[in-house]
Amino acid sequence: MKVLQTQRTYNTSPLPNLVKHENKVNHATINTGDGNPNPSVIFGQATAPGLNTLDFSDIKLLDAPSNKGGNTGSRVVLHETLEAYYTSQPDYSTNALLAHNEVGKIFPGYDFVLNSIQYGATDANGNVSGFTFDAFEQNNLNAKSVLTFKFVTPVPRTALPTESSARLGNMPSFNLSEVKKIP
Ligand SMILES: [Zn+2]
Repeated sequence: MKVLQTQRTYNTSPLPNLVKHENKVNHATINTGDGNPNPSVIFGQATAPGLNTLDFSDIKLLDAPSNKGGNTGSRVVLHETLEAYYTSQPDYSTNALLAHNEVGKIFPGYDFVLNSIQYGATDANGNVSGFTFDAFEQNNLNAKSVLTFKFVTPVPRTALPTESSARLGNMPSFNLSEVKKIP
């Protein structure tokens, strides 16, 4: 695991009796992966308190011409880094979604619209190569991109859940292949 950035802070908050004390040291760590696509991460995600895992093969797609005007790779890296810092704090350590929402006010990540999952065409062998769904930049309903994913290996259409019940956790392994900003 490569550590891209480590942040630490030392708080000296006054106790109610005004006696200063030393709080715990908080670390935020970013796992930058091994450069290969990580099928279990889309852009980045909180994987433990104080730790976010990034997938740079996904993040670089944000800066492709197809996503011009949309969220950027550097902003998403900042989002993930600050999110790891938040979850290193007691108030957020058990609630990564709350951390995601708070950080999104400063550096927007994405909110996925999972009920918009649509499979690609079924080929002559009955297989599907991937699927799409919509994602909004946090706090900006005018900033929508379509994310396209490819299954690691094509999957028989009959082996997939229905589109309306499909979720990230009940589909075979996939990787992000395109981010396209919707004008
Ligand atoms: Zn987030």
